Amino acid sequence: MFCTYCGKENPNDAKFCNACGKSFSEDSKPNRIQQAAPTKSAAEPTANMAIASLVFGICSIPTAFLAIWLSLLCGITSIVLGKISLDQKRLGKEYAEWGVRLGAIGLGISVAFIIIYFVSILGVFAFFNDLIPSLSR
Ligand SMILES: [Zn+2]
Repeated sequence: MFCTYCGKENPNDAKFCNACGKSFSEDSKPNRIQQAAPTKSAAEPTANMAIASLVFGICSIPTAFLAIWLSLLCGITSIVLGKISLDQKRLGKEYAEWGVRLGAIGLGISVAFIIIYFVSILGVFAFFNDLIPSLSR
């Protein structure tokens, strides 16, 4: 076999290189694993994150439509209840209360989704930030 450090030929059962003295059994073999391991362990979380990103992205599309409709429904119901309560000044108190609640829920859903969209956009930017330097290498 040949030494991986200096290239000199050594007996197959040699534990150390006759020329440079490097260990074959303990140094050269684990060194190859150590060199391969960081690239693998660094790639695996990236792949997991990429899969998670895809899953979240796919799930967010129907959820986004649902949230838009739910928010619109809450808002419209809130307007209708507010109008009824204005028309029927005394009887309308309960309608007004429900109108305020639904309006708040609708607004809450909208704000929550604006935050989620904002985080998603940041995620997309982070993705391209990582992608562009890796392409230029
Ligand atoms: Zn050597």
